[in-house]
Amino acid sequence: MTFDVIVIGSGQAGVPLATRLARAGKRVLLAERGDLGGTCINTGCTPTKTMIASARAAHVARTSARLGVHTGQVDIDLAAVVDRKDAVVRKWREGIGRRLQVDRLTVARGHARFVGERHVEVAGEVHGAEVIVINVGARPALPPLEGLGQVPWLDNATVMQLRELPSHLLVLGGGYIGCEFGQMFRRFGAPVTIVDRSDHLLGREDPEIASALEDVFRNEGIDLHLGAKVAAVSGRAGEIALRLGSGKELRGSHLLVAVGRRPNTDDLGCDKAGVALDAKGYVVADDDYRTSAPGVHAVGDVLGGPQFTHTSWDDHRLLFDVLLGRPHRGRSGRFIPYTAFTDPQVAGVGLTEKEARQRGTAYEAATIPFGTVARAIEVDETAGVMKVLVDPKTEGVLGAAIVGAEAGELIHVFVALMQAGASARAIVDAEFVHPTFAEGVQTLVMKLDRFALR
Ligand SMILES: Cc1cc2nc3c(=O)[nH]c(=O)nc-3n(C[C@H](O)[C@H](O)[C@H](O)COP(=O)(O)OP(=O)(O)OC[C@H]3O[C@@H](n4cnc5c(N)ncnc54)[C@H](O)[C@@H]3O)c2cc1C
Repeated sequence: MTFDVIVIGSGQAGVPLATRLARAGKRVLLAERGDLGGTCINTGCTPTKTMIASARAAHVARTSARLGVHTGQVDIDLAAVVDRKDAVVRKWREGIGRRLQVDRLTVARGHARFVGERHVEVAGEVHGAEVIVINVGARPALPPLEGLGQVPWLDNATVMQLRELPSHLLVLGGGYIGCEFGQMFRRFGAPVTIVDRSDHLLGREDPEIASALEDVFRNEGIDLHLGAKVAAVSGRAGEIALRLGSGKELRGSHLLVAVGRRPNTDDLGCDKAGVALDAKGYVVADDDYRTSAPGVHAVGDVLGGPQFTHTSWDDHRLLFDVLLGRPHRGRSGRFIPYTAFTDPQVAGVGLTEKEARQRGTAYEAATIPFGTVARAIEVDETAGVMKVLVDPKTEGVLGAAIVGAEAGELIHVFVALMQAGASARAIVDAEFVHPTFAEGVQTLVMKLDRFALR
């Protein structure tokens, strides 16, 4: 059949794009080979944050004596935690199904593949369209690790199906996914070991940001092996061993592999359509999401990053304007924040100090311990640190990072300021409610010499 637009993948960009285009009068085909809603809803943000809520409840109950509240023994019913997660995921997935019931929108279930220029085959039928949008996302990458093919391992999807607690979880990878799962399972009661070849967790962060999280993890009893290269894995179900380059061996019952993502382009027939890929298989696209093939656009994780739900969703917003010929700005004009939903959360936007130095960007930086914020002391959530980098000429924010309670909310103060191109002085002039965590943002900015009260 012929459509105006074919969208491949019902991810965070594909669903809103397909429905809005159909409402705007286009005949749209949306192809999906798996569960509706993509990674975020099925195996990413939604299930992880739902399970993290259970892990935090366990932690708060276990540690409530510090607030003078004594609870009994804390028991984790992992099967109930997983059932609750599944119910939340199911609700979202069904909601997507309802959202897709729009006139002029056809949903085809099956693997879609280019069979020629502007032609796609799905479920045994070939369809053509003037515009094709690739929103196929990414999946877990596997490291070329000796022995990995011979041992059972878990990824972000299968680890959330465990109904019994591992007797010892080994986590390969100290990025945000490894950190979120590592702390979650530790709080459920499992011994946890995290291994990463970087010297710090969350390798991109400045050392004091990562160290603040590492301190918390160590205090909670998570065993960290950083700067450690894994040479080989061996064993069988229930008995896994990781051999480090140093010769040391780490043993556990289960192995979670969380070392990054790879794009779902290997069986997409991009060569048939003339869609160029980079060396890692990500789709190459310009600022308006145009690929090398006329009429073919790409959005979301398949572009190689930053790989976040909010980025993919915002891609749909910008591409919608591109496709309808509306005035728009390119994707490079955005500031993309992120949050690791560990406890405390780690959030950031813009440049790190490391990156500013590498680029030779002039900056002034300030840092304060999260524990100096009144609210943090009152609720006894003092772990963490806040950091900001400001452009000495414009006083604009170059970047910020926060480790602390609700860091993922606080970072938006900086995001809005950066997107508006405003001076950080606005934070000094604004009144911040007392006692909130956000007051710490103002204290942080006032720590910069130029904004200090004298
Ligand atoms: C464990 C985990 C936790 C995460 N937590 C967060 C978080 O807290 N916050 C955040 O912002 N981001 C988070 N992310 C990242 C977020 O999930 C992704 O960035 C987001 O889902 C990307 O959306 P997308 O639209 O690019 O693709 P996806 O959501 O991956 O959707 C792609 C869809 O395309 C389908 N597809 C692929 N190939 C084909 C084909 N050939 N034919 C038909 N269909 C196809 C897939 O089945 C899938 O449904 C997390 C990811 C993981 C793994």
